[in-house]
Amino acid sequence: MTFDHFSFDRRICAGITACGYSTPTPIQTLAIPEVLKGRDVMGLAQTGTGKTAAFALPILQRLLNSDARGQGPVRTLVLAPTRELALQIQESFDILGKQAGIRSAAVFGGVGFNPQINAARKATIVVACPGRLVALLQQGVLKLDSVDTLVLDEADRMLDMGFMPDLKRIMSRLPAKRQNLLFSATMPADIRKLADTILVDPARVQVSNTAPVECVTQAFYPVSDHLKAGLLEALLQSVEHESVLIFTRTKHRAKNLAKRLGLRGLNTTFLQGNMSQNQRQRALDGFRCGTFEIMVATDIAARGIDCDRISHVINFDAPDTAETYTHRIGRTGRAGRTGAALSLITRDDHLVVRDIERVLRRRVDQCTVDGFDYDQPFKAQPGGGNRDRTRSQQRKPSAPGGRNSRPQRSRRSSARAS
Ligand code: AMP
Repeated sequence: MTFDHFSFDRRICAGITACGYSTPTPIQTLAIPEVLKGRDVMGLAQTGTGKTAAFALPILQRLLNSDARGQGPVRTLVLAPTRELALQIQESFDILGKQAGIRSAAVFGGVGFNPQINAARKATIVVACPGRLVALLQQGVLKLDSVDTLVLDEADRMLDMGFMPDLKRIMSRLPAKRQNLLFSATMPADIRKLADTILVDPARVQVSNTAPVECVTQAFYPVSDHLKAGLLEALLQSVEHESVLIFTRTKHRAKNLAKRLGLRGLNTTFLQGNMSQNQRQRALDGFRCGTFEIMVATDIAARGIDCDRISHVINFDAPDTAETYTHRIGRTGRAGRTGAALSLITRDDHLVVRDIERVLRRRVDQCTVDGFDYDQPFKAQPGGGNRDRTRSQQRKPSAPGGRNSRPQRSRRSSARAS
């Protein structure tokens, strides 16, 4: 199928061309016709599946159909959990809607109010983080009386982050008659409840949760805790990669690891919660355009990172849950490309490893990095840097042989994103 199927206005087709899209992704094929009909939609899809354009394109078309143009009032409100995601969505609207002359604005915390207020007043589409939007509504500087389409993107994340009270406040300011689109990567009970409250006879569109994972090669690298940083460096040397996103458990570990890799001459940046908006943006822009080949991030900070060139996701620290694992590895293998997800695992991670394999319904190859000395003894750091001495006695992975990573459990090599 091509985008011609949807008979978009030629100005929107120009936006699609500007983005370089030629065929719709599965979520787009399913969602676009429903949104165009004006139906409420419950979309179950992860980021990386093309879900932004799945709602942005038909929304732009409907705005054109209803003669919306030029400056305000706000007709479409998109709510997103993080600044990064809000900006990415707004940029997508911006590019896709450029020829159509439909203005959009992003509203998020951590920056000054006035430029946002001015931009939002002139926009037909506002993409907002709930906290800042509530602040604008309370100040009475933005009205939502003309909103006829509401999108809740990454709704599960918004609820995880405690935005439910803000969402309720915002929805109480919207006209009752409107189209509602709710997108979520997961469907826990609270999302079901939210969907029941706001959606009227929704079309349910779902792309398989494992879809992005299918084009991502996965491998586990068993290692003792004290050897993780060394193994990571060896791994980075042994795999051919473009951009690499590395996950750590804490902000502190993200910063320290980025510093260590930087000292090894690798162009590395990091992203964590207490950075200023400018610092975050600099890090993200540098990573997106390739100035930094490596980004080290925590789960919260990495939400919504949209960078097509990520060839590898490396879990320096294993995620807490299988769901977080799926989210993390969905950062690579985006938009039909292949990617690799490599996870350093210690003996303490056996429960989450079991859960991940249960969700994937298969075993993940366990690999070693050839030439890496897994027998290095634990060395106490001055000041007691290493967490757990006993971890150094962990079972040693099988002996390395050649230059690249070797699977232990299966013969398939998993380190390379082809
Ligand atoms: P999203 O899931 O909306 O974050 O999109 C993930 C990535 O896929 C973004 O970089 C989009 O620009 C890209 N994308 C979205 N739709 C398409 C398409 N039809 N063809 C190629 N890439 C796409």
